[in-house]
This record gives sequence, structure tokens and C-alpha cells, in this order.
Amino acid sequence: MQSESINFDDTATAFAHRSTSELKNSHFVFTSMSKPWMVKTGTVMTNLALKMKLPVKGIIKKTIFNQFCGGESIKDCSNTITLLGDYNVQTILDYSVEGLKNEDGYNDTKEEALRVIDFASTNDHIPFCVLKMSGLGSTDLMTKAQNKEQLSEIEKTKLYNCEQRVNEIIHKASSKGLMVMIDAEESWFQSFIDGVVYRMMAKYNKERPIVYNTYQMYRHDMLDRLSRAQIEAEVNGYYLGAKLVRGAYMEKERERAEEMEYESPIHGTKEAVDKDYDEALKFCMKHIDRMGLCAGTHNEKSSRLLAQLMEEGAIAKMDNRVFFAQLLGMSDNISFKLADLGYNVAKYVPYGPVEKVLPYLFRRAEENTSIAGQSGREYTLVKKELRRRKSAS
Ligand SMILES: Cc1cc2nc3c(=O)[nH]c(=O)nc-3n(C[C@H](O)[C@H](O)[C@H](O)COP(=O)(O)OP(=O)(O)OC[C@H]3O[C@@H](n4cnc5c(N)ncnc54)[C@H](O)[C@@H]3O)c2cc1C
Repeated sequence: MQSESINFDDTATAFAHRSTSELKNSHFVFTSMSKPWMVKTGTVMTNLALKMKLPVKGIIKKTIFNQFCGGESIKDCSNTITLLGDYNVQTILDYSVEGLKNEDGYNDTKEEALRVIDFASTNDHIPFCVLKMSGLGSTDLMTKAQNKEQLSEIEKTKLYNCEQRVNEIIHKASSKGLMVMIDAEESWFQSFIDGVVYRMMAKYNKERPIVYNTYQMYRHDMLDRLSRAQIEAEVNGYYLGAKLVRGAYMEKERERAEEMEYESPIHGTKEAVDKDYDEALKFCMKHIDRMGLCAGTHNEKSSRLLAQLMEEGAIAKMDNRVFFAQLLGMSDNISFKLADLGYNVAKYVPYGPVEKVLPYLFRRAEENTSIAGQSGREYTLVKKELRRRKSAS
């Protein structure tokens, strides 16, 4: 099949893994999320109900949690992992709980990551693990270090410990044949994260890409940063691992820039972001001999473009240097279609106790109302599939 003609409207393939009653749940969730007032009210009411210890956990679990999370624990995600695997879709387990912001909390997060690696190494459907450095060390200290502020000896030790935690996780993952993605976060400490990640790449990516950094293409300096990272890798003899995303913190970034009176690092328009994202895909495919690429996106045009670039570059669909990735419960029309055609596809599968993943769920809800068209797109596809099933029965 020619990549330009990939049909992302093929709802039969997109939702073959879901029962009709599950789709009805999705329909309800996306209808609710398309209304900003419902998201706002729902967020307030849920927080209130939990504070008052009202029995709302069951409702949350059956609806929004079921849509976007794999389970409450690693083991709990087994069914989801197997189900996705049956359709050729791989899993990236994502512990979506914000731990305590102290050394004990950071150690707990590290231990959870090590448990994920143990589990993943016995499961054929988990090629990557993922970490957020904000769970492994203080972002205030990272910000200070990035600003080249004076650090006390204790602060230096804490940042050193943070890097050691990252190293311990990557060391274990690499010894078990797993790759590791490090998520991108807010610009005011992202350069600190980059520093750690490039030191890890120099150590672990000598023979193949194990460690992947994340590039947020909504930043107007990101194409340049990506190109410099590729040169650095080339010069220092390691493979560059790159996960490309558009970026999740646009509002926060703009607000801070305005408040603190510096130029926003974010592009002024969505069009400029789309253009840079696609340029970044082209750049990575041009250098794919010395790179690993993961396109973390729900954008159909960019996904189609990557498939086309692979075709033009005679890169096999199953070549493990190229992955497509989406979040669980979103853009199944992209994930399951590409997987059906034989491409490498993975889903981020968030997990954690219901009460503790609520911030993640609220972010998904907000994102789906703030990104023009996304929940509308999900809703339309689910509705189309429900109609198709009804007329087929
Ligand atoms: C597997 C995966 C991993 C991810 N990991 C990370 C991560 O590590 N760090 C991170 O920050 N995000 C991450 N994200 C989220 C990602 O950055 C996007 O927020 C999300 O995927 C939506 O972008 P899109 O490419 O899917 O789709 P689209 O719907 O095409 O794009 C929406 C995005 O475009 C940008 N945008 C929208 N409107 C404007 C505007 N007016 N001006 C400028 N830009 C605009 C924003 O970035 C917005 O999120 C990840 C997403 C996925 C699927």
C-alpha cells in the first residue's frame, strides 16, 4: 500500500479490539470532554467528592480511567498489554503518579521504574520504558543549575543523586535489552535534563540507540537543538535517540514568559509548529543510519508523512529504528491502522491508583477540550464505528 493513501478513517480496524459497550463508554467520555463547562465542573466535583470520601472511585474507574489508563498497578495492566499485543501494538508503561517531592519520593519513583523494567523484560510487547526527570529530582534545583546559580554542596549532592537514579534505571534497562525514553518538560529546566540525557547517550548508545531524548517542536529553537544534538552524537561516536513531540506545556510556557517578561520559547502559531515537526521528521529520516526515531503524535498528517518518508528511504515498516507512538485511549485510528499495516507502533499506557492518576486524567480532559478538534475527532470516529456495527448487525 502507498503510504499517501493510508486510511485513518478505517474505524473497523481502529476499534476491532474494543467491544460495543466499551465504545459506548468512549462515546460518553469524549462527548463530556468536548464541553469545557463539563470538564471544569467534573474536575471540581470529583475533587470535592474524593475529599468528602464519597464513593466515586467506581464511576471514575468505569469511565475516564478505563478510557486512558491500563490499570492500577503494573500487573493490572497485563490484560491491556496482551490485548494491544494481539493487534501488533506495543506498550510503554507510564507510571502516572506524582510522587512526593523529596529524596524519599524520588527513590520510590526510581524503585517503581526498576519494577517496570523487571516486568517488561519478561514481556515481549514492551520495547521501551519511560521516565520523567521531575519524578527523580528537584525541578527547583534543576532550574537553578540551568540558570547557573550558585549551588550549595547539599544541592549539588541532590542533583548528583538524581543523575545516579537516572543512570541506575538506564543501566538496568539496557542490560535487559530495553530502550528508555526521557520525557521533555518545561523549558526552564529542560536544558538541565538535556545535559543528563546526553551524558547517558554517550554512555549507552555506542552500539545502538538505547536512550531517547524528547524534542518539543513547539519551541522555535528546537530544530536547531535537534541538529546540534545530531552533530554532537556524530562527533562523539554515539547514536542519537529522538522522540519527536509537539509539546504539552504551551499555556504554562507562555504565561511564565509573559509574567517574567522574556520572549516565549513557543512558536506563535500552530502552523509554524506543524511545519517544524514535519521538518524534524525529515531531518531524522535523513540521518536514520545513526539514529532511532519515535514519532509521539496524534497528528494524522505527520504520521502519514513519516510513513511516506520511510517508503522513500526504503526503510522497512518493521525496522526497529522507527516507531510511531500514541497515548492509550487516543487516536486508535492511527495506532491500530499503522500496526495493521506492519509498522512499529507503541502506546503509552499510564497506570497507578485511581485517586493518584487523577491529575493525569484531568490533564487529558483539559487537553482534549483545549486542542481544537481532538476530542471532536475521537467522538466522530467512535460514533461512526458504533453506527457501522449497528447497520452490520
Ligand atoms: C507518545 C507520546 C509521548 C509524549 N511525550 C511528551 C513529552 O515527553 N513531553 C511533552 O511536552 N509532550 C509529550 N507528548 C504530548 C505532545 O507534546 C502533544 O501535546 C500532543 O501529542 C498533541 O500534539 P499532536 O502532535 O499529537 O497533535 P496536534 O493536535 O496536531 O497538535 C497539538 C499541539 O500543537 C501545539 N499547538 C496547538 N495550538 C498551538 C498554537 N496556537 N501555537 C503553538 N502551538 C500550538 C501544542 O503543542 C499542542 O499540544 C507526548 C505525546 C505522545 C502521543
